[in-house]
Amino acid sequence: MERSWRRAPARAFTLVELLIVVAVIGVLVALLMPVLGMARESARVTQCQNQLRQIGLALTKTAATAPPERLKPASLTQTLAPVLDDPRIWACPNATAEPVSFGFNVRTYRMQSSDALKIVSLDYRKAVADVVGHPPVDDWAVQSAPRHRGTCNALRLGGAVTAQAADAIDPNVCLNQDLFWRPQLDNVYLVAGSCELAVH
Ligand SMILES: [Zn+2]
Repeated sequence: MERSWRRAPARAFTLVELLIVVAVIGVLVALLMPVLGMARESARVTQCQNQLRQIGLALTKTAATAPPERLKPASLTQTLAPVLDDPRIWACPNATAEPVSFGFNVRTYRMQSSDALKIVSLDYRKAVADVVGHPPVDDWAVQSAPRHRGTCNALRLGGAVTAQAADAIDPNVCLNQDLFWRPQLDNVYLVAGSCELAVH
């Protein structure tokens, strides 16, 4: 008997199989996209926090020698500029289109070592965060900038940087004035029995 060595013709993909493969790839991409997005956002959070840490180091280094008026928030960006030579340090990676990324607490210049947990700079929409006082001057709902999944990165005087929900540090809340914003030196201005400042 003669054996046939002819190979069977290669079987092509049917249209249905092709569509199944395309659909499976589509599902995999859809599953991966949020994971990739989260990884990118985590990287931006870390970058923003590192920038604030560097700003904190520059502040500590400069505060030792700079005259007090140079440490007022309106001048701080310029005062720190010689130590922070890369201007990109001032741009939160999630706010590249916004003119201002970080705001300095308006009372930073009155802080002492005992104010280590007070916020000196954070994700904000103005260079000066005028938030000390009850009520604060700034409209917190407008000026706070929770750019990182609902949180602001905040630099404490002691150098720590934490992600804070805007509500958790809202300066309109009396307790938050004490915990996060008002230097201990300013307590002498408090109206007795309230968190209102007698003098700004
Ligand atoms: Zn940021």
